[in-house]
Amino acid sequence: MTVFWAKLAWLLGVIGWFVIRYPHDRRSRRTPTKLRSDRPRELTLLTISASGMLIVPAIYVLTAWPQFADYQFQPALAWLGCVVFACALWLFYRTHKDLGRSWSVTLEVRDGHALVTSGVYRHVRHPMYSAFWLWAVAQALLLPNWIAGPAGLVGFGTLFFLRVRREEELMIEAFGDSYRSYMARTSRIIPGIF
Ligand code: SAH
Repeated sequence: MTVFWAKLAWLLGVIGWFVIRYPHDRRSRRTPTKLRSDRPRELTLLTISASGMLIVPAIYVLTAWPQFADYQFQPALAWLGCVVFACALWLFYRTHKDLGRSWSVTLEVRDGHALVTSGVYRHVRHPMYSAFWLWAVAQALLLPNWIAGPAGLVGFGTLFFLRVRREEELMIEAFGDSYRSYMARTSRIIPGIF
């Protein structure tokens, strides 16, 4: 494994994510919305997250900038990054499949929104965010650069910590005690731990 292959693995991971998401994105645009959280705030958080997960690492992968932040490449870390990215993609696939029509990019409740509590949602209530965390960890393992590597953890971390409580409040508004009891028996992103 060389830096070139590690960068290519990151790029393929991102393309894989687009391919998994694309059909759900198309369907989601056609699904009417009933309740919507503060949209400008949501779009700001998505921009911050996309900067860290896509824009900053893409600049590094395509131009090698910022070179001053490079550090010694460790093939073993990059291999681990490939495994973690593969797990993230599997989890993305599963979460999209299980959420179905209930999925949306920003926080929304759809007409006839179904509360999903089975499949990968059985023990964890934010498994798609678990998948994004895995992607951010994979990025840090694959890209030997102190800025482009951890940018995903910072970008997605900002979105996660400023969104997750609001999302749970929105779900309680929509589903009341069903969501409260679902919360009581599940973890947020790591089964049994957090
Ligand atoms: N936080 C979840 C879902 C991310 S997609 C995860 O990480 O897997 C965001 C949308 O999913 C929100 O607009 C919300 O309406 C919806 N959502 C979140 N949890 C849900 C659940 N258990 N069942 C149905 N919809 C859910």
